[in-house]
Amino acid sequence: MEMRVWRADVAAQQVWTEDVPASWERLGGRGLIARILLDEVPPTADPMGPKNKLIWAPGMIVGHMVSSCDRISVGAKSPLTGGVKESNAGGTTGLKMVHLGIKALILQGALPTSGTWVLYLDAQGGRFVPAEDLAGLGAYATGQRLLERFGSKVGIALIGPAGELRLAAACITNLDKDREPARKNARGGMGALMGARRLKAVVIDAAGGTKPPLVDAGLFKAGQKLYTTELMAHPQTAIYRDYGTAALAAVCDSLGALPTRNFSSGHFELVDQISGEALRDTMLARPDSCDISHACMAGCTIRSSNVFGSADGEKIVSPLEYETIGLVGSNLAIGDLDSIGRLNHQINDIGLDSIEAGAALGVAAEAGLFAFGDAEAAARLLEEVRRGTPLGRILGNGAAVAGKVLGIRRVPTAKGQAMASYDPRAIKGTGVTYATSPMGADHTAGLTIRANVDHLDPKAQIELSRTAQINMAGYDSLGACIFGGFGFAKATGAIRDLINGRYGWGVGDDYLQELGKATLEMELAFNRAAGFTPADDRLPEWMTTEPLPPTNSVFDVALEDLDRTLQWS
Ligand code: SF4
Repeated sequence: MEMRVWRADVAAQQVWTEDVPASWERLGGRGLIARILLDEVPPTADPMGPKNKLIWAPGMIVGHMVSSCDRISVGAKSPLTGGVKESNAGGTTGLKMVHLGIKALILQGALPTSGTWVLYLDAQGGRFVPAEDLAGLGAYATGQRLLERFGSKVGIALIGPAGELRLAAACITNLDKDREPARKNARGGMGALMGARRLKAVVIDAAGGTKPPLVDAGLFKAGQKLYTTELMAHPQTAIYRDYGTAALAAVCDSLGALPTRNFSSGHFELVDQISGEALRDTMLARPDSCDISHACMAGCTIRSSNVFGSADGEKIVSPLEYETIGLVGSNLAIGDLDSIGRLNHQINDIGLDSIEAGAALGVAAEAGLFAFGDAEAAARLLEEVRRGTPLGRILGNGAAVAGKVLGIRRVPTAKGQAMASYDPRAIKGTGVTYATSPMGADHTAGLTIRANVDHLDPKAQIELSRTAQINMAGYDSLGACIFGGFGFAKATGAIRDLINGRYGWGVGDDYLQELGKATLEMELAFNRAAGFTPADDRLPEWMTTEPLPPTNSVFDVALEDLDRTLQWS
């Protein structure tokens, strides 16, 4: 189908399509979102107001089930950071949208004052469907009802109660390939923007749709084959297949970077109970309820996801990932996987980003609202978020708000967004990314943990972070999973062939870097116009003075080095 721009206005109850503007044609995913924001959203706009727009943009090579490359980007001016935001997810939304010819879906217009709506998209166009019965429902029940209503083959992007409450830690949740609402556009509060327009879900019925055309199918297939071969040969692919992202728990702990008790230590005494090895052993002992290697989207050969269940055969959550194990486990001093899994399920059902929720709970524990290690008390606080009590709204607006209200100074955020499960005092390259990324603290913007460097050396991190940030901005524009980088890094020419095979643009071997730089330049321009200055590219002052046990390291990367991180011309 011809790729077009789709627009939806809930207040006006209108959905229409437009030609793709020439300046948007060579963009996709994260890069396209940055372009649309620059073109259509005033950078100083109120993120929760009518001038902001919520944008879905599938990556540029989405549509042909290239392994791990069918991701969906969602972006807007973030209600959490106040800056540009792109948050991408696996699952099936990206593939379904491309098969309907959706280059971008833009939710815009006045904020409706009543109703709860579902946006239904199919080959005939789009329409709004009343959905009052879904108001206040959790993500899992919402997914189930929509599948019953619209059939089991649709794609769905939905919000839970947190999004309806317009909380800044609210996510958007997508169906995985098994129709589980499990894959989240987690970061930056994108769910709050669906809630602001009273949109509970987008349902994508791609029946009658088609794969996007290939200008040179032979070239595309050659690029796909080269990439897949290198991906399968990479040793990290096997590690992620066998242990999932949880493999990083022991690695981070050994580096003294595993967030523990609200980022007061980088070592957790119970790490052996929540590590990738522990998770694998637990799942192997529970074959009736667990799947140690699961693909979030059709065609993914890495299969880093999992299904985690209990000893008595009950499914607990899918997936159970390292970031949640860190922020909801060690960060809250909770050392058993069943408790972490149940909290993860609850966070998913409420529709929250588990990183932001775990960080806010860590701040709450430090403030004495509950004892570190008390999973039941953490669950009770999460129910306050679901109910929208004053305390629940404070926590649901993220760690920075919780820290201000509760009077806690040790708040692990950059640009108002919670740090992922890598303490930047012990993995300083990722700290540089947290500080300087236009996205705020976001490990997927440029993770450096796998680099063979001294992670404590403040002088060795700038180029590392810069390279990682450029590559990730490129991958996020292509629609590639972060782990697809294992293959692309070795498969010289694969991205060139995939793009030239799909579009015939004649791009060269440096295309990924060109795309990444162009994307970052647009994002930086948006943030500058929104009022960001170099003073925003900093980590919290306490991280520069408070030593992190056991390395007793502080974040001591020079400010002038931070300021040159994203300079390249
Ligand atoms: S590697 Fe994991 S996160 Fe990436 S696409 Fe595959 S299952 Fe999804």
